[in-house]
Amino acid sequence: MKYDYLIVGAGFAGSVMAERIAGMLNKKVLLVDKRNHIGGNAYDEFDEHGILIHKYGPHIFHTNSKKVFEYLSRFTEWRFYEHKVSAKINDKLYPIPINRITINKLYNKNFSTEKETEEFYNSVKEKRHPISNSEDIIVNKIGHDLYEKFFKHYTKKQWNLYPDELSPAVCGRIPIRTNDDSRYFTDKYQFMPKEGYTKMFEKILAHKNIYIQLNTDYKTMLDKIKFDKMIFTGPIDYYFDYKFGKLPYRSIRFEFEKHDMESYQETAVVNYVEKNIPFTRLTEYKKLTAQSFGGKTVISKEFAQLNGEPYYPVPNSKNKLLYGKYFREAEKTKNVYFVGRLAEYQYYNMDQVVAKCLLFFEELRDK
Ligand code: FAD
Ligand code: UDP
Repeated sequence: MKYDYLIVGAGFAGSVMAERIAGMLNKKVLLVDKRNHIGGNAYDEFDEHGILIHKYGPHIFHTNSKKVFEYLSRFTEWRFYEHKVSAKINDKLYPIPINRITINKLYNKNFSTEKETEEFYNSVKEKRHPISNSEDIIVNKIGHDLYEKFFKHYTKKQWNLYPDELSPAVCGRIPIRTNDDSRYFTDKYQFMPKEGYTKMFEKILAHKNIYIQLNTDYKTMLDKIKFDKMIFTGPIDYYFDYKFGKLPYRSIRFEFEKHDMESYQETAVVNYVEKNIPFTRLTEYKKLTAQSFGGKTVISKEFAQLNGEPYYPVPNSKNKLLYGKYFREAEKTKNVYFVGRLAEYQYYNMDQVVAKCLLFFEELRDK
């Protein structure tokens, strides 16, 4: 059979593109993924204890985009969920993002207004100009001590780079608050798909024009199939056979553990921001999914590593230059389009990938 489109990768980017192209343009799509499941890194599954886990770490949906929320709402119902994270220092838990409660608890203060907290930050912050890396952006807002405690070591563990070796946007993802809002995100829409991400992907892909082939690296089948156009959502350097060298992507090893207890920790996620603990964060899944299991709970610990499945682009100026070479090569490549976190080498959240795909589809359709 001849396909109109070959789409590589069945994560958010590939699946949304497949749905739009098959449904709106009535084109035949072959969607290929090298893994044995759809959903990309957002994939979730029930483990042997019946607990819904996120195989590739905690995924919390949040967006300010009505368009993205309404689009995905066609494929899932939602459960309201506002994510909270604590940072652990010396066996004590503090709200992260840093807020008034964090400051009061850490420094034995009694601030009750935003103004007092702001004045505190003003008294400890160190002016940095220009803001050229992730150390600058934090120290410029809250000074060295809070930076050391909450950002420096977590960042080194996550990226094997110190914050001064990463773009400001990395640590800049985490706001600094003067109020006592302990939510991780403040977006307008914060929900979890009611029956999980994989069920939502099944609905996105349930179309007669979408053919799915799993367990297949697209390169192994290129000479066996015919198609007009390709949408590529995997790592862009792999597409071009690493011709300019390897782009660094950060990977993670997840260690899952089952514990015979009702609750393992206070919040769904605890960030281990201290240097001497080898993992970054610890997630307790039933706190994300609101499942109740008498006396049982499942957690995962994240150990960041260089090798393995690519999960994160590594945003800094050196990698941006290298990505630029691949980007220019991609622009010259006829009838192949590169979209998604790995293909665009962008530290996108799920909603940003969906937003990008909806826009990109409109361009494609109008061509
Ligand atoms: P992916 O999901 O990576 O999909 C790419 C797919 O391409 C993969 O399935 C891969 O197997 C396939 N592929 C690659 N190469 C080939 C090949 N050669 N042949 C065939 N198939 C191939 N976002 C949020 O909004 N909220 C969160 O809480 C959140 N938490 C996260 C936690 C972790 C640990 C990670 C890693 C990411 C998190 N994200 C979160 C980001 C989110 O996972 C991404 O934004 C989103 O999954 C990107 O979708 P994608 O389709 O671009 O990429
Ligand atoms: N970060 C940190 N300490 C924290 C939380 C975040 O140093 O307690 C830094 C770290 O570099 C991390 C980045 O901020 O990689 C972005 O954090 P986020 O929680 O958004 O990471 P993600 O969920 O994408 O892994």
